[in-house]
Amino acid sequence: MKTPLTVNSTSRRDFLKNSAALATLATAGPLASFSSFSGEEKFDSSKMNGIQIGAVSFVDEGVKEVLDIVQKRGAINTLFLTTFTYGRGLSGRQIPGRKFPDHGAQKSDEETFHGGNYAIPHPEFYKNTLLNVKATRAPEHGDFDILASVIPEAKKRGMRVFASVEDQWRSDVPGVSELAEIDLQGRKVRTLCLFKQEVRAFWTGLVTDLSMSYDIDGILFFNERNGPLLTALGASHFQKIDSSRVTCFCEDHQRAATEHGINFNRAREGYQKLDLFVQNSLKGVRPSDGYYVEFQRLLLEYPEIVAYDKLFDFAKHQVLKEVNAAVKTVNKDLQVGFHVEHVNSFNSFFRASRSYEELATMADFLKVVAYNNCGGERYARFIRNINSTVFRDVPPEELMRFNNHLLNFSEDEASFDKLPKAGLSADYVFRETRRALDGVKGKCLILPGIDVNLPTGKDSRKASPEDTYAATLAAFKAGADGVILSRKYSEMFLANLDAAGRAVRDGTKE
Ligand SMILES: [Zn+2]
Repeated sequence: MKTPLTVNSTSRRDFLKNSAALATLATAGPLASFSSFSGEEKFDSSKMNGIQIGAVSFVDEGVKEVLDIVQKRGAINTLFLTTFTYGRGLSGRQIPGRKFPDHGAQKSDEETFHGGNYAIPHPEFYKNTLLNVKATRAPEHGDFDILASVIPEAKKRGMRVFASVEDQWRSDVPGVSELAEIDLQGRKVRTLCLFKQEVRAFWTGLVTDLSMSYDIDGILFFNERNGPLLTALGASHFQKIDSSRVTCFCEDHQRAATEHGINFNRAREGYQKLDLFVQNSLKGVRPSDGYYVEFQRLLLEYPEIVAYDKLFDFAKHQVLKEVNAAVKTVNKDLQVGFHVEHVNSFNSFFRASRSYEELATMADFLKVVAYNNCGGERYARFIRNINSTVFRDVPPEELMRFNNHLLNFSEDEASFDKLPKAGLSADYVFRETRRALDGVKGKCLILPGIDVNLPTGKDSRKASPEDTYAATLAAFKAGADGVILSRKYSEMFLANLDAAGRAVRDGTKE
């Protein structure tokens, strides 16, 4: 079932030379010649050239119309349809306050967006969960069922269809409160605890339901959650730093800790001390030995901090394994993929906590986030976050340069102050794709997530056709098995979709 990996031997020097030439070509005017493109040109259809699309786009623009656009203009042969989520990243129109792209309804859905299951849940698949499964049906588009509506039209066109499922909830779904994680202060939060059997039963029930009830080609599973150590430090690009809200300290977690030989009370005590360290650091109260040494000392005195963080990863990976097994039980030919979040790109600790080779044992493909435009703003935010606590003694520019070396980013990436406006380069996409390919050692496919108009701040990088083309082509030059245009069609400007489509054709032609 797995497509053999295409190992591209292009050297980095050749790549840089080629990408410079191609960037010039892109600027020189293929856009102008788009109108003459028939959509019939040959490209390597064994590659999975995907795009993420939510229900609202089909409702707003029509199923055939959307498929026409993505197939002809974006050279797309694989659809990743947002089927379950309560999040706006994968679902809904353009996020509130940002410019609408040049297609779809030009009105915010802030008031009507709800989220949930955009297909029809069948209760018989969810016997062992406390969640009210009927209540998870997304209400905002009436009877519209994204899978039932899109699959027949997609199959006619020879397009593959994957159901995207994301671990994102809202607190008013019946059953969520009972399954919620408990934070360090004993408060319930909006995330569900992965050590609760009822939660696990929901995920396996959902993917079984989708695999049995619809003629899909597989599942793409999203879980962007981090363990308590990263959350406490805010060591990612998006979290605000709230070390007193780390999770999870529920009874099921306590039991799991004991089973893994971790002293639960010591772990909690360690996180309380870490909370104090973070709060003092944010206020600029410098420990006598400096911020980094104090942090290091905490880890030495409380190895349970790291062990408890790893326990979260254990549960997250268990869910991935169970999702994969559940889908394969229905049909061993269905493919299962996991989204590998952006923090994996920026944070060396996170990288250390994941092994591509291990992830490859659980999945047929990995969608590796390599968003370069918003990547500048996000990487800068990550540096600023770690620069406010553990690495507070290091000037941010030096910290970023040091981190660039650890992460194997090019020395040519923009300086810290210019990073949000400059974005990361196409070379970053190349390197992250290559790292993933090297990591999985041919045991699963690598599909880099390509940034097509991910929303950024007012003064930050905005995607252009030139850099969309360069980033998409870089993924293929690195040897990717396809790409996934992200995050969602309802955010994408068509000139950028055209540019991605040109790169797919140029990157995959024989
Ligand atoms: Zn828990």
